[in-house]
Amino acid sequence: MPELILVLDAGTTSTRAMLFAADGTLRHVAQRELGQHYPQPGWVEHDASEIWDSTLACAREVAEVAGGASAIAAIGITNQRETVVAWDSQTGAPLHRAIVWQDRRTEPFCAELRAAGHEAEVQVRTGLLLDPYFSATKMRWLLDNSEQVRGAAERGTLRFGTVESWLVFKLSGGAHLTDASNASRTLLLALDGAQFDAGLCDLFGVPKSALPQVVDCEGQLATAQAKWLGGEIPVCGLAGDQQSATIGQGCLSPGETKATYGTGAFVLTNMGGAIPRSANRMLGTVLCQQSGQRTYALEGSVFVAGSLIQWLRDSLGFVTSAAETEALARSIPDSGGVTIVPALSGLGAPHWRADARGVITGLSFASGKAQIVRAALEAMAHQTHDLARAFAADGAPWGLLKVDGGMSANDWMAQDLSDMLGLEVERPEFVETTALGAAMLAGVGCGLFADLLVAANAMRGNVRRFSPAMEDDVRRERLARWRKALDAA
Ligand code: ADP
Repeated sequence: MPELILVLDAGTTSTRAMLFAADGTLRHVAQRELGQHYPQPGWVEHDASEIWDSTLACAREVAEVAGGASAIAAIGITNQRETVVAWDSQTGAPLHRAIVWQDRRTEPFCAELRAAGHEAEVQVRTGLLLDPYFSATKMRWLLDNSEQVRGAAERGTLRFGTVESWLVFKLSGGAHLTDASNASRTLLLALDGAQFDAGLCDLFGVPKSALPQVVDCEGQLATAQAKWLGGEIPVCGLAGDQQSATIGQGCLSPGETKATYGTGAFVLTNMGGAIPRSANRMLGTVLCQQSGQRTYALEGSVFVAGSLIQWLRDSLGFVTSAAETEALARSIPDSGGVTIVPALSGLGAPHWRADARGVITGLSFASGKAQIVRAALEAMAHQTHDLARAFAADGAPWGLLKVDGGMSANDWMAQDLSDMLGLEVERPEFVETTALGAAMLAGVGCGLFADLLVAANAMRGNVRRFSPAMEDDVRRERLARWRKALDAA
């Protein structure tokens, strides 16, 4: 049996294909940037044909390096979540540009539904909130605003899907399916329902007949046609990017938690088989579905993480590279009382204040570049600390925090996280956890591994641990300053 796994990672800004060996070694990566379209303020679109063309080109490059399709045991796909593609089942062509997760155009419809009192029920059933971020209102917008989409709906040839669904349709030449982790981001799947929910489809005005079948995250899910990569290859793993990263971090037991620090920060805690019910406006989501059995996760996101460092670099010119922040933070014993609340685009979980704006408090003539940069890094631990408290209040206390993402490369920040949370922080040497999760799922799905735990042991490499070493009174003083600054924001 071949032992290589081809991962297709359809991200927001780029599309990649990656070749993994069964021991987790990354053999090859092919990558293409993805065009971003901003037709109006707050609107973000992708060209679905470009996503497919780039994916195919990258996959072909990787398949050649692998030595052909026969050397590849399975394909795993991970993707930007919530983004909606509409296509025609007859022509196989997109009917409109894909509406991206960041797109805010459906806020008025969301506000209408909130005003009509639907949010509480929607939250209980789907784990999500009435926000333009999720897929359903984007589908409705396409039906209301695109003649092509409406025409296909009338002919019965309209197909809606998130990005993994689109790629599976193209690869297989017609299969219309989605995995439960992606399906759980649409507002159309009840967390306890096997398939899309008729009542939710009615509420959002989306025809159930245009939606894919909901399937497991691993198994023999579809087959890529021989014409694409020179031979048939089974598609054996599917998961949304954050769920995939959670699996790639080996968060396979209840309570295990990962935090990804990229542009923003995404935190997911494995909740086992229990449907998460948040009293703190965290999201409940499907982490993974295997043989029809679901594992759930509680998810919280912080809007501003690495983007604060980019702002210090690009707008203020305090550093020339993000990595310089580490030496600056280390160059002083503390921030000299400077505190930053990075609410530059509002505050996400657990505060949910879209109207909040950033503040810098505690400035004196002694405050310089180093103090402000250090305060910016400290803000990551402060924001994560608030999330930790909210997760604990929702019955999901963290025992250990596994970190990844571009910003986690900062050793000073990783140590500060450990200090402020009073928890061990673990960082893998191999930081491509999103792709690794999809490789693990595909490896289990094709029978290379007995289960995800075996896959994790085989494929996950070494980790580095950071242990808490801060005095209690220092931590208390920092948190008190943070709370005061939050009030100002
Ligand atoms: P995304 O996937 O959201 O594009 P990445 O995971 O690639 O983001 O992380 C990039 C972000 O991490 C950037 O915003 C950058 O400012 C920040 N970053 C990268 N390296 C460091 C570092 N050593 N210290 C602090 N921030 C960093």
